[in-house]
Amino acid sequence: MWIFMPLFIFVVGAAIGSFLNVCVFRIPEGASIVFPASRCPACKKPISYGDNIPIISYLILRGACRHCGVKISPQYPAVEALTGLLALLLFFKYGLSFQLLFSFIFTAALIVVAFIDLRRQIIPHVITLPGIPLFFMAGVFFMGTGALDAFLGVMIGAGCLYFVAVYYEWLTDREGMGGGDVNLLAMMGAFLGWQSLIYIVLAASLSGAVIGITVMAWKGKDSKFAIPFGPFLSIGAVSYLFVGEYFMRFLLGR
Ligand SMILES: [Zn+2]
Repeated sequence: MWIFMPLFIFVVGAAIGSFLNVCVFRIPEGASIVFPASRCPACKKPISYGDNIPIISYLILRGACRHCGVKISPQYPAVEALTGLLALLLFFKYGLSFQLLFSFIFTAALIVVAFIDLRRQIIPHVITLPGIPLFFMAGVFFMGTGALDAFLGVMIGAGCLYFVAVYYEWLTDREGMGGGDVNLLAMMGAFLGWQSLIYIVLAASLSGAVIGITVMAWKGKDSKFAIPFGPFLSIGAVSYLFVGEYFMRFLLGR
């Protein structure tokens, strides 16, 4: 059955998404991501295996804890569905391969980074700093990124951020970039090569501007809002996996 493999990939992706949720909540706390098992944040009762099925449990329980009825964040099913969907899309692009494995690990890391940044306005070094050498190796050995391109990716990723920071401050009138964004861009450049950063920064700035202007129009011009940049860089990097080669061909006029 042709449907079996895609379905399997989606289910595995959603289950990993469930683990990514745990990472989003625990990594900024400096807590272990393995112990203890998932529990309700309000009544602390452990969540049984039957209530821990990605997406489905949230729908069956209507987004509330079975024991105390407290509302569960919609982030849980959202991250599970997003991770499952991206696993599926990567499977369609790469098939069963090392490229699928490493591009999925890369995507999963970015999902965690993006949601932590959305919640806390920080990008944890504990992901990006080990991520730079790890994704450098994975990019060079499995994704076909040239070693020099990856090395320049790290250097330019860290360097071109100054320009983005100035642009971003000018646009939003607030200091939006931190050291976390520098490491994040370096990690992306390590995996995808320095050329990808052109697209990533462009896509992040454009989508950031659109969202920023929308929020301003919606909440009033002088409202102070904090939109972190990490999620937009992540959208840029993940979409580069799919459209990067076309963008590069367009850019080089081929
Ligand atoms: Zn509860």
